[in-house]
Amino acid sequence: MPEMPEVETIRRHLAPQLEGRVLETLDVQDERWSQPLAGEELSAAVQGRTLEQLDRRGKYLIFVLEDDVHLLVHLRMTGTLLLDPPEPTRFGRVTFAFGGGRRLVFDDPRRFGTGELALGTPAREEFLARRLGVEPFSPDFTSAHLYALTRASRAPVKAFLLDQKRVAGVGNIYADEALFRARIHPLRPSNRLTRAQVDALRDGVIESLSAGIAAKGASIDDFRDPDGVAGTFQDRFLVHLREGLPCTRCGHTVRKLRVGGRGTYVCEKCQPRPRLR
Ligand SMILES: [Zn+2]
Repeated sequence: MPEMPEVETIRRHLAPQLEGRVLETLDVQDERWSQPLAGEELSAAVQGRTLEQLDRRGKYLIFVLEDDVHLLVHLRMTGTLLLDPPEPTRFGRVTFAFGGGRRLVFDDPRRFGTGELALGTPAREEFLARRLGVEPFSPDFTSAHLYALTRASRAPVKAFLLDQKRVAGVGNIYADEALFRARIHPLRPSNRLTRAQVDALRDGVIESLSAGIAAKGASIDDFRDPDGVAGTFQDRFLVHLREGLPCTRCGHTVRKLRVGGRGTYVCEKCQPRPRLR
C-alpha cells in the first residue's frame, strides 16, 4: 500500500511534466472512483482548466486547477498513476488527457482508489482536516506537538502512528522504521512515552520518511512510479520485513509481531518490550 513517500515520489515525478498544462479531458471509466459524484459531473468540474500545481497532503495527491478547483486523488491499496503508458493498461479506470498530448492513467486492480472534488480552498482544507492530522514535514510537527498528541492515547504507539488523524502519511513500513530508529517498542502505550522518546520518535518519523523519498519509495507490492519503475527503499529497510534476520544495529534476531492487526517488525534488544501493568 503506498504511503506518503510513495505518493511524494509520484508528485515529484509528475509535477514538472504536467504543471502549467490544461487538463483537456478526464475520462472516468469506473464510476466507483468518483463516488458520490457521477464520473461526468466530476469531469465537467475539472475539464478545460489549467493544472496550476500538483500538491500532496498525507497520502492525497492534489491536482490544484485553475479557479481554485481541487481534485484529491487517493491510491488506496493498489492504485498507480502511469504517465504516457505505451500500451493500454490492464486495470485503467480513469484517463487524464493534458495539453501537449500527455496522458495520465489511474490503474487500479482492486478498485479502492478514489478521486474527490473540492471547490475552493476552504472546502479543500475542511476535507483534509476531517481526515488528516499533522503533516510530518510541516513546521507544526514539533516534538511538543507530538508529545501532546501522545498524552491523549493509550493505544500502542505503532497503532497511534498508523492513525492518519494523528500523524498524516505514516503507514506500516515507515511506522516500523521510525520506531526502530527511535528505539521504541511498538507495543509501548503512547501516553507512557517519555519526552526523550517522543523527541527520538519525531526525528525517527522524519528520517524514515526522508529515506523513503530519497529511495523513490518502497516497492514491496504494486508500487511503481509514473514511468512504471519500482522504488528501491525495500532494499534499505532497517527492520521492516527482516523477520529472522540479524538486527542492522546490534545483530539480535528481528521478530515479527502483530500490532493493531498489522505485521510489525522489532528488535527487542534495541527496542525493549514495555512491562505492561
Ligand atoms: Zn538491535
